[in-house]
Amino acid sequence: MKKPVKICKNPDCGVEIVDYKSSKREYCSDYCRNHHGHKRRCEENFEFIAQKKGLANNYKILKRYIDAGVVREDFDKLLKFGFDPKYLPQKYIDRTFSPNIAFHIIKDIIFGLDPVTNQVIINSVNNEK
Ligand SMILES: [Zn+2]
Repeated sequence: MKKPVKICKNPDCGVEIVDYKSSKREYCSDYCRNHHGHKRRCEENFEFIAQKKGLANNYKILKRYIDAGVVREDFDKLLKFGFDPKYLPQKYIDRTFSPNIAFHIIKDIIFGLDPVTNQVIINSVNNEK
């Protein structure tokens, strides 16, 4: 019986695998198998590093406000300073912080966007009573 033609799973290759012994075969060659796995790991790692860097940068920007004793800032202004809402930790809702505002925590800073005023409320976790 003729085996179905497989396509190498390495997206940069895409060669047809006509002759193979195992039906589990996914790549045309060892090179493609290793290369694809390596590339995928690099991409995952890159995402992870970007997320970490983005968070650290957001923290740095918010920290400046905390240090200056400023607890509210226009969201647009934060964006101008390089704040990137793509990199935010998990969202919480806590009525003791603010009734309707979801907030995030990075290290010792708690912050959330007030949708009514489009301002970011910034607070130090240590100041929370
Ligand atoms: Zn291949």
